[in-house]
Amino acid sequence: MDKRLTIAIDGYSSSGKSTFAKEIAKELGYIYIDSGAMYRAATLYFIRKGLVTRDMADIQGIADAMKEISIEFAYNQDSGEYETYLNSENVEKEIRGPDVSAHVSAISKISEVRTQLVELQKQTGTDRGIVMDGRDIGTTVFPDADLKIFMTASADIRAKRRYDELKSKGFDASLEEIRNNIIARDITDENRDISPLRRADDAVVLDNSRMTIAGQMEWVRKLIEEKLNDS
Ligand code: C5P
Repeated sequence: MDKRLTIAIDGYSSSGKSTFAKEIAKELGYIYIDSGAMYRAATLYFIRKGLVTRDMADIQGIADAMKEISIEFAYNQDSGEYETYLNSENVEKEIRGPDVSAHVSAISKISEVRTQLVELQKQTGTDRGIVMDGRDIGTTVFPDADLKIFMTASADIRAKRRYDELKSKGFDASLEEIRNNIIARDITDENRDISPLRRADDAVVLDNSRMTIAGQMEWVRKLIEEKLNDS
């Protein structure tokens, strides 16, 4: 059988990880998993249960509620995209909205949340042929990944990308608010105690501030080729 790779893509919020990861998965015929969508779906569940408060005091309540959550991805033929399901409900649109974005990094700091989601992510990757994006994929979820990429771009460019994405999905958004949210999430993600956002020692950095997706694909094809030819 042909060799199949595990590819880990980490990096800053709105650095274009998911667009890039999806494109790689499509080209190679691999599974794509958006680990951020899992943290977003869990956050949505806690918001609905009234567990997301200013001081995030009810950690036990959140840990208990984690046991009630099931998260799955299903392919939508019409959009050609994988969509996120929370307890069998399609929440793809809602988890991208400002309310979830405002709270997801605080939820992602909680060890009970991370343990369960990391376990789920590891299970989905037991067969190789997977591209997963997130913040701790190369460091924690798949430390032995064949190819690790760490993505970044300037905050202004990332904010503009997020703004365009939200607008296209019908959300009312302010560029300034989005920029602030992105920067706040970067800070929380980089400074949390458990699995903070950081480049794995063996990850290749990709600053795509001035790159098109075609340019990024050209760049990554060489790396993939090398890994596939490694014995
Ligand atoms: O990738 P996305 O921006 O949708 O992720 C939303 C949030 O989920 C991140 O800001 C981060 O707090 C959290 N996250 C994480 N670990 C991952 C993926 C996402 O902590 N592997």
